[in-house]
Amino acid sequence: MFVDQVKIYVKGGDGGNGMVAFRREKYVPNGGPAGGDGGKGANVVFEVEEGLRTLMDFRYQRHFKAPRGEHGMSKGQHGRGAKDMIVKVPPGTVVMDAATNEVIADLVEHGQRAVIAKGGRGGRGNTRFATPANPAPEIAENGEPGQERDVILELKLLADVGLVGFPSVGKSTLLSVVSSAKPKIAEYHFTTIVPNLGMVETEDGRSFVMADLPGLIEGAHAGVGLGHQFLRHIERTRVIVHVIDMAATEGRDPYEDYLTINRELQEYNLRLTERPQIIVANKMDMPDAEENLQKFKEKLQEDYPIFPISALSRKGLRELLFAVADKIEETPEFPLQHEEEEETGVHRVVYKHEADADAFNITRDPDGAFVLSGEKIERLFKMTDFSRDESVRRFSRQLRGFGVDDALRKRGAKDGDIVRLLEFEFEFLE
Ligand code: GDP
Ligand code: MG
Repeated sequence: MFVDQVKIYVKGGDGGNGMVAFRREKYVPNGGPAGGDGGKGANVVFEVEEGLRTLMDFRYQRHFKAPRGEHGMSKGQHGRGAKDMIVKVPPGTVVMDAATNEVIADLVEHGQRAVIAKGGRGGRGNTRFATPANPAPEIAENGEPGQERDVILELKLLADVGLVGFPSVGKSTLLSVVSSAKPKIAEYHFTTIVPNLGMVETEDGRSFVMADLPGLIEGAHAGVGLGHQFLRHIERTRVIVHVIDMAATEGRDPYEDYLTINRELQEYNLRLTERPQIIVANKMDMPDAEENLQKFKEKLQEDYPIFPISALSRKGLRELLFAVADKIEETPEFPLQHEEEEETGVHRVVYKHEADADAFNITRDPDGAFVLSGEKIERLFKMTDFSRDESVRRFSRQLRGFGVDDALRKRGAKDGDIVRLLEFEFEFLE
């Protein structure tokens, strides 16, 4: 099985900060709290786009940071939430957390969506902290940081375009000059024949998978591994590119070659001849090629388009690739009559919630200081505005609420010991 695989970084937008503000009204010297909440940060959302066939786009852009929420404002105005960042992926993309290898989403159908990195919520403005005991609080929360992580995208590749033609007509050469990436072969193999497979990108940014089909067909002929995976390969192949040695390098007649190969395709009874063909007249750099091409055109019965190229000197490739990409777009799949494969497995949507993060961990630095870490406590830290005493006091209360003080004491912390949390350092006070 061939796979296209990329590792990328995603980060949800941070929430906007809450605001500390007070009403200023005529005749009211110092009114009540009026600081609005911050807006929600944007999620990074993956969405299936059926026109995409490879993960090629991710080779150029590997960082996806969604925008943050707007900060809260005075006069009780809340910041606006940011619009989700939509990232298009091809059908069949499996998204895994790079750290845990856990599958986050299995994206199959057009339009299907999954949140890959959550945006943070907005911080609360001081209006929210007012109590009868403290009617004018000077405290607001910073926005919650957006979730960030590295994820691995994996796509199993099936050929969109199959190359057919006699041996030595230039199929491998063509594939090597038009494909910008060689996909990985996953550890297990589905057959003893390894097809030649490449990912092709057109100048206008479309991409598709091209494979040397004869490799497969010859293997099938010899009775090796014509399994389920093979059928899937053929089924996904919408367009046949028929490569012909127009220079007749080996003395055969190009048109006879064409007929012979088409007869073979017919024999396999895999509806291969129903697929549209594009004829590639290769080796046009050679002396007799032009004359042969004229004769070929006169004999050709089908109205398949012909593209004269030279794979060797890379001539005519651009037009050919555009035509292939167009043809793929306008051609439906050709379902074969075979049992539906594990239907249940294919349309499943895995969408797991992360386990509740541990509140905190305590370790020691070489200098003896206690170090606090953990997702929950770090998030709390980032949401605290340390420039305001009230916020700092609230933060220490929250730490106590988590049981941090007790845990430190158990680990032997004494009055005056240093405790670190991210870039923050404070003394442990009994
Ligand atoms: P395949 O068996 O169809 O995969 O054919 P290959 O790609 O292995 O090519 C067979 C031979 O034809 C090699 O020696 C290539 O260098 C040569 N060849 C391929 N394309 C061209 C071309 O456009 N012009 C010329 N002159 N030779 C070519
Ligand atoms: Mg070859």
